[in-house]
Formats: sequence, structure tokens, C-alpha cells
Amino acid sequence: MPELPDVEGFKRVLAKNALRKTIDRVVVSDARILGKLPVGKFASSLEGAQLVAARRHGKHLMANIDRGQWLTLHFGPAGGLQFVGKPGGEPPFTRVRFDFAGDGSLAYTNRRMIGRVGLAEDAADFIAEEKLGPDALDRRFDFDALKTAVLSLKRDVKSVLMDQQVIAGIGNIYSDEILFQARINPVERVDKLSPAELKRLFTEMRKVLETAVDRRAGSEQFLERLPKGYLLPERKRGGHCPRCGSVLKVLKIGGRTGYCCPRCQQGC
Ligand SMILES: [Zn+2]
Repeated sequence: MPELPDVEGFKRVLAKNALRKTIDRVVVSDARILGKLPVGKFASSLEGAQLVAARRHGKHLMANIDRGQWLTLHFGPAGGLQFVGKPGGEPPFTRVRFDFAGDGSLAYTNRRMIGRVGLAEDAADFIAEEKLGPDALDRRFDFDALKTAVLSLKRDVKSVLMDQQVIAGIGNIYSDEILFQARINPVERVDKLSPAELKRLFTEMRKVLETAVDRRAGSEQFLERLPKGYLLPERKRGGHCPRCGSVLKVLKIGGRTGYCCPRCQQGC
């Protein structure tokens, strides 16, 4: 379930292996991932071109094409991006492959076909069309901006954190970690949080996401890289709170399964 830290990892893969290399061929093995965009149009926009910059916004990855457009990649619940050094080393569920002239391929994988690969004329317009809120790690998205964004919402804090139109990048998994670190009950209404809770929410949102990015942990992979005292390695039925040892509570919020500590996150 790729979230901000995972997509930041995919951005690294793209930046390290795919920039300033001429794309020889684009192979689309399942056109459904392009939505309404015709395969021919997609391929001809990229073949012979180079990607020159990578940018992430929330869970979306974008790469600037030297001819002026942007390649957009969204991973849904089961997508990924890998560099393939050797011919024939394509991972399972590769839906789009970008072959570089004599220098490996970039493989977009997607097990469940939820997600999208596309083209955009302009990155900022694309972000606006997707109705994405500010990226959770955008420096301009400071505490005051968070307060303004959430205080009029009369919804539980976990759903608000996961709402890409409010804040982009956080999903079901990292919202649990952020709320655990901030010691906030996930079902508490965001407009009812005390100023101190709201401050902790902002601080922990930044800290948790930055820590995951720095340590190259994902939402389901490399959780052992997270610091001691993090919830995610214990985030399962029968898992224990890393702080007080209580059995974690399983919650259903908006059709998603969340985890919290009934002792550390009061009222949970
Ligand atoms: Zn606890």
C-alpha cells in the first residue's frame, strides 16, 4: 500500500536510474493502466525523449519529459517502480516498461491495476486536477496551514489525515503511526482537538514521515528500519503497544482497518 515514504523511494529509483537517458521503447503490457489515453499517443510522447527531473506530490510521482510534458505515475494499493538492469529481468505484474538505449529499463508494476500511468501538460495543473492538498512534507505546509486546513472539518482525525484533498501522502498505515506517536485517539474529531494535540499532530506528522524517508522504510516493507517505539512493526491483530505493552485495538474507520493503543491513545 504505497504511501509517501514508498513513493519517495520510487522517486529515488527514477532519479538514480532513469534521468537523462534516452527512452528507446515504451512497452505497455496492459493498456487499462493508461485509462483513456491511447497507447500509441503515450508511447510516441516518450520514445526518443528523456526524463529530466523527478517530482513527488503526495502519493503521485511525476517526471518532466525534455519535450515539455510530464509523465505521471500513481501506484494505487499495489503498485511499484523498479529498475531492471538486465534484459528479461522484468518483475511480475509489469504493466509499463521504459527501455533505455542500451542501459536497462524502468518497470512500473501494479498487481491490482488500481492506479494510473499518464501524461500531463503541466505538473501544477495536474495536482489541481487531481484535487490534491499540499504535500505532507512541503515546507510551506506549516503548522498554521495545517490548522487552517483541518479546523473546520467535523470528521475524525484519522480520516482527515488520509484525505488526499486535505493533506497529500498519508494513507491508512502511516496515519496509524502518526496518531500513535502524537498520542491521539484516531476517532477523535479533528475540530475538537486541543491546541496541544493539534501541535503534536503536526510535529509527529513531519517527524514520522521524515524518519521513514530517511531510513528508507516503506509502509509494508523494511519496517524493521523504523526506530524503536514505532507502532508499525507491531501493527497486526494481537500486536502489542511498543510503549506500554497493551494489546493493540483494531478499529474500523471509513471501511479501513486501523490500529491504536487503548492506553496511550486515550479513549481509543
Ligand atoms: Zn500503549
